[in-house]
Amino acid sequence: MRVVLDHITKRFADVTAVSEFSATLEDGELVSLLGPSGCGKSTLLNMLSGILPVSGGKIYFDDQDVTSMPPEKRGIGLVFQNYALYPHMTVMGNICFPLETQRVPKAERIERANEIAKLVHVDMLMNRKPSELSGGQQQRVAIARALAMEPKMMLFDEPTSALDPELTGEVLRVLRDLADQKTTMIIVTHEMSFARDVADRILFMDGGVVVEEGPAHQVIEHPHEERTKQFLSHYGT
Ligand code: ADP
Ligand code: MG
Repeated sequence: MRVVLDHITKRFADVTAVSEFSATLEDGELVSLLGPSGCGKSTLLNMLSGILPVSGGKIYFDDQDVTSMPPEKRGIGLVFQNYALYPHMTVMGNICFPLETQRVPKAERIERANEIAKLVHVDMLMNRKPSELSGGQQQRVAIARALAMEPKMMLFDEPTSALDPELTGEVLRVLRDLADQKTTMIIVTHEMSFARDVADRILFMDGGVVVEEGPAHQVIEHPHEERTKQFLSHYGT
């Protein structure tokens, strides 16, 4: 799905979190959204998914204006830093839940859940509860749950920030595999080598606006803007 953000703005009381943000994501493109804490990354993802209404601007999915469309109709998979699994449900139950709400028949739900579980390597954990999983396993289940709806776009908001380095690597490998699929994706991450190697393009944000954008290798290895350079010297590769 092709996604157009046309001068998107978000104001909270006295803060402008995102200011006239414009970008186009081509179908199947993987964009990494980088920038310092508080620059508006989460706000932007939440407006795309429909959780937050925009204060101004338009959002288009394949030329359809979805600016006022409710989140459940947008077909977007969202994965947060904190996996927020349903604690009383098994892994199978968690992955199937969105399908159940969409009234997918049971046999098909189970088949699809098993397929997706293989993709993110949690197929051997289907009968466990979240409390019986490592953080990396929980995050992979959260990714599976988002994928189960067969989303037209996937958004990842710092999906590895709550994980230690080993588990981070585990989740990044899964994201790397997903990158080969033809789903349009935005990943907010502080893993610069991942962004460089896996993203097609980088958007670097600061203060609610795009400061620099370009092919991932170019932005990470040869940033032009001072703020990008400062950010990269902090997070490094
Ligand atoms: P990031 O994800 O890049 O760290 P955020 O999108 O969370 O940044 O926040 C961008 C700015 O908007 C920050 O100044 C933050 O304090 C502010 N902000 C975010 N959510 C709210 C909210 N619900 N109410 C008021 N201000 C908010
Ligand atoms: Mg954030």
